[in-house]
Amino acid sequence: MQILVKCPKCDAGLPVLAAEAPAAITCGGCGRDIPLAYSEPVRDGRAVDRCPVCNGADFYIRKDFDPTLGLAVVIIGALISAAFYWFGRDLIAYSILGAAALIDLVIYGRLKDLTVCYRCHTEFRGTHPPTAPAFDLHTADVLEQEYERKIGRR
Ligand SMILES: [Zn+2]
Ligand SMILES: [Zn+2]
Repeated sequence: MQILVKCPKCDAGLPVLAAEAPAAITCGGCGRDIPLAYSEPVRDGRAVDRCPVCNGADFYIRKDFDPTLGLAVVIIGALISAAFYWFGRDLIAYSILGAAALIDLVIYGRLKDLTVCYRCHTEFRGTHPPTAPAFDLHTADVLEQEYERKIGRR
C-alpha cells in the first residue's frame, strides 16, 4: 500500500510505503516531523482501518482522478474540433467533441479507487478492498474541524 501523507502544517504530500513503515517522516516543505503509527491491516496492505497520521478511523472512497488529464483531453478535443468547424466540417467537429467526452468517460471508468482520511486528507493507494463509504460533506466538515482544533490550527 502506498500512503500519501498530508503534512498537518503545510499540506505537502509525502509518499510513504506502508510495507516499509517508517516510524516518522520529516516534511520536505516545512521541516516538521510527522510521527506515523500503523495498524496491522494498513502495514500488510489488507485494509485501511486507522490513519497512521491522525489516528482517525473515518475514511471515504474517491476515484483516483487527475483532473488536469481529463481537462487536457477535453481541451485538445475542443481545439481539434474547432479547426474542423472552421473549415465547415461540422459533423466531424461534433464527432471529435463527442469522442473527447467519451475518452474522458473511459478514463474515469478505469480509474482505481482511492481511500482518503476525512481528518488529515492522507491518501491510501493499494489493492485493499474499498470498504469506505463515498464522500459525505457533513462528515467532512465535522471531522476536519475536530482535527484542526486538535492540531491547533484554529
Ligand atoms: Zn509540512
Ligand atoms: Zn488521517
